[in-house]
Amino acid sequence: MQTDLIEEARRQAQICNACRYCEGYCSVFPAMHADRAFSDGDITQLANLCHNCRGCYYACQYTAPHEFDLNLPKALAEVRHDSWKALAWPRGFAGLFDRSGVAIGAGLVLAFALIFAVAQAMRPEAGEGFYAYMSHGLMVAIFAPAFLLPLAALAVSLRAYWRDVGGTNWTLSDIWEACRSAGRMKNLDGGHGDGCNFEDEDRFSKGRKHFHQATLWGFLLCFASTSSGTVLHYGFGLEAPYGPFSLPKLLGVPGGLLLCLGTAGLAWLKTKADPNLGAPKIWGGEMAFVLLLFAVSATGLLLYAATGTAAVAWLLPIHLGTVLTFFLLTPYSKMAHGFYRMAALTQDAATRRAA
Ligand code: SF4
Ligand code: SF4
Repeated sequence: MQTDLIEEARRQAQICNACRYCEGYCSVFPAMHADRAFSDGDITQLANLCHNCRGCYYACQYTAPHEFDLNLPKALAEVRHDSWKALAWPRGFAGLFDRSGVAIGAGLVLAFALIFAVAQAMRPEAGEGFYAYMSHGLMVAIFAPAFLLPLAALAVSLRAYWRDVGGTNWTLSDIWEACRSAGRMKNLDGGHGDGCNFEDEDRFSKGRKHFHQATLWGFLLCFASTSSGTVLHYGFGLEAPYGPFSLPKLLGVPGGLLLCLGTAGLAWLKTKADPNLGAPKIWGGEMAFVLLLFAVSATGLLLYAATGTAAVAWLLPIHLGTVLTFFLLTPYSKMAHGFYRMAALTQDAATRRAA
């Protein structure tokens, strides 16, 4: 990891540790105040606890032009992104996406859509719904490894993260606490419950929390929808297409709508926020990821709406291309932040329990 970024974050953390004004803002400060000195791993852990709400920046009396020149959200954002890059497996892939996220995302979607369109030309002899265009076996053969291999790459990265931050023994209750904290997004309340200062300088807003929640719960509902379809197919012999009141549709349609709303909102907030309070170099890569997630949900909903029409022939390859790109880029794009954040929250819970 880049030592100059760690050094700068350490300098700022030491000032904060003496000041302690932002004590109740988020989980970063209690974790910071538990230490007198910060190892490189401590700084990486603090950086992954921070979610860049910017509350501490607008409350701080030591920002420029003060000689301390505090900008903790930026210092932690730069360490955080550098840690994901350094810990990514295989190495180098994450850096590639940071530099040219939009081009890589768009290029992969187009290339995969083209491949799926060609595969569609060799239609199966039998099948209903989407399976009339592409066989179930072919879809499973492509998407099962595309789903499992990125998860394996993330597991390697998280193991390295745990070693790097000096991870302690965790229990199921630590994981439960981390899940509760992530699910409620308590840290996005800014400590006082009024929200954060992400998009509108020192005005508090809950917009980012609500759009984040829509994205998270929308994504989980879509995942549950796909999982329920798999259980119906293999467990009960009930094959797609499923009716509007089936479990996959009852979970998938609201999930897709929430995901569209959440990602569109997050992209809009990102255009309003000051890039100099984050990591400006990777702004494009982050935006590309949010737009990719929006494209996954929007094309999925369009495809559902087009069921039974000729539009399925061109919407299906586009949707499958966006989903495949999303899966493959997960360990190297902003999507990885959810996994690192869960690891950081688990480590935080384990440290507090041990203390
Ligand atoms: S960000 Fe500024 S006000 Fe907040 S704890 Fe650090 S030095 Fe103090
Ligand atoms: S930017 Fe927000 S989350 Fe990050 S340290 Fe400051 S108050 Fe905490």
